[in-house]
Amino acid sequence: MNSGNHEDPAQDTSYRSWGNYPRASHKKILRPSWMDEITGATLRENAPLLAYGLGRSYGDSCLNDGGTLLDCRGLDRILEFDVEQGRIVCEAGVSLGEILLVAVPRGWFLPVTPGTKIVTLAGAIANDVHGKNHHVEGTIGCHVERFELVRSTGEAVICSRTENAELFAATIGGMGLTGIIPWAELRLKKIESSLIEMDTVAFNTFEDFTRLSSDEEGARYEYTVGWVDCLSGRKTRGIFMRGNHATTGGLHTHPEKIKLNVPFNLPGFTLNPLTIRAFNTLYYAMGKAKGGHSQVPYDPFFYPLDKVNNWNRIYGEGGFTQYQCVVPETEVAAFQEILERIAHGGQGSFLGVIKKFGNVPSPGMMSFPRPGLTLALDFPFRGEKTLRLFSELDEVVAAAKGALYPAKDPRMSPRMFRLSYPRLEEFRKYVDPALSSSFWRRVAEVAR
Ligand SMILES: Cc1cc2nc3c(=O)[nH]c(=O)nc-3n(C[C@H](O)[C@H](O)[C@H](O)COP(=O)(O)OP(=O)(O)OC[C@H]3O[C@@H](n4cnc5c(N)ncnc54)[C@H](O)[C@@H]3O)c2cc1C
Repeated sequence: MNSGNHEDPAQDTSYRSWGNYPRASHKKILRPSWMDEITGATLRENAPLLAYGLGRSYGDSCLNDGGTLLDCRGLDRILEFDVEQGRIVCEAGVSLGEILLVAVPRGWFLPVTPGTKIVTLAGAIANDVHGKNHHVEGTIGCHVERFELVRSTGEAVICSRTENAELFAATIGGMGLTGIIPWAELRLKKIESSLIEMDTVAFNTFEDFTRLSSDEEGARYEYTVGWVDCLSGRKTRGIFMRGNHATTGGLHTHPEKIKLNVPFNLPGFTLNPLTIRAFNTLYYAMGKAKGGHSQVPYDPFFYPLDKVNNWNRIYGEGGFTQYQCVVPETEVAAFQEILERIAHGGQGSFLGVIKKFGNVPSPGMMSFPRPGLTLALDFPFRGEKTLRLFSELDEVVAAAKGALYPAKDPRMSPRMFRLSYPRLEEFRKYVDPALSSSFWRRVAEVAR
């Protein structure tokens, strides 16, 4: 392999995850520019190897401490776009934002999108990402038609629901461990307008949130999500956002005119319970005052955080992490207990995201989304104190037969991983022996 590869014996520490915790040193970075540079030999000769997209995973599932990273961003070409049928074939490193730039003006949209468009297509598949329309469309894997998978045996296999179906299911949500995806085909969603008809509603109790997330309400809105003030505890105060694609207003991409930037890591004291409480109260008050209906471009609706470059730096050198869990809908008491313990701990930051996942089955053996209630909340990483709180929350999640999300995790225990993913033993059979990650070594190689 050529083109800008980094082989520094001093180890490369520049590749990080979004949470900046933990840090990793990579012994080698490979940067392919062309798909045919990725072969079985590349994998074997550089083992243990892991593909890297845009590093928007929070914890260590995109890191490979002591091993090789294969930076896929050079694979950035759109290979085919059937504008009639809405099928797009992209190299692995094309970002969801880049797909939107070509798709939206032609009347197509991503079928599922996470809360940032700065993720690669292959990265999105490897975590089988979900979005605000999970209750309608399921995960992104539900819309992947096929992809190629390069394995260390030298095979390059096409995987789809009908061809190599088991490898297809293992790779969607397979955390990059079953092989390298050089390209994938995605089925897009037809739209008539690039605007979103958005409703904002303040809620003051968990019962209000439940009513807003009910199946009847969910049937009226493709996109639903709640922002909850993590310091409000059992009161569960927050803002509920829901929306549908508009039918008027034209098909435009909305390039950001002003992009804010956080130029360096802010000092750790910038975020403390007082500043967080003040921010949450203000956000709630603004949301309540602004409540009602509006027509907004897709960007601020789906990607409010993308407006600020490097916003992860506000957490300072210590980094941050996210706790994302899901519990079955019947376990409302457990969900409320989680919110209460977080409020009591006073460590959470800003607003948490809560959402009811629907029952569209996830296609991946290791997909995180499943029917139930999910909470995602950022925490400045404060060492033992944070770890202790997370362990307490884990016990509530485990007792409720819930699960944790690897894409957000730097510290779950092997036991929690096993409890969260009942198909783990089946999945192991498809893990390529040349591939590994910091996450996998931490939670699964010891989990037998
Ligand atoms: C602001 C923000 C909001 C988010 N919102 C959501 C959300 O709403 N829903 C959600 O599900 N997630 C969400 N995420 C998480 C994010 O969507 C996932 O972590 C996503 O997988 C990151 O993609 P990436 O391209 O950055 O990949 P990376 O983080 O670099 O890597 C992710 C995984 O993809 C694998 N991979 C990368 N390229 C390849 C390849 N070519 N072949 C095989 N494997 C590969 C890697 O090995 C790794 O396991 C959010 C993250 C941020 C920062």
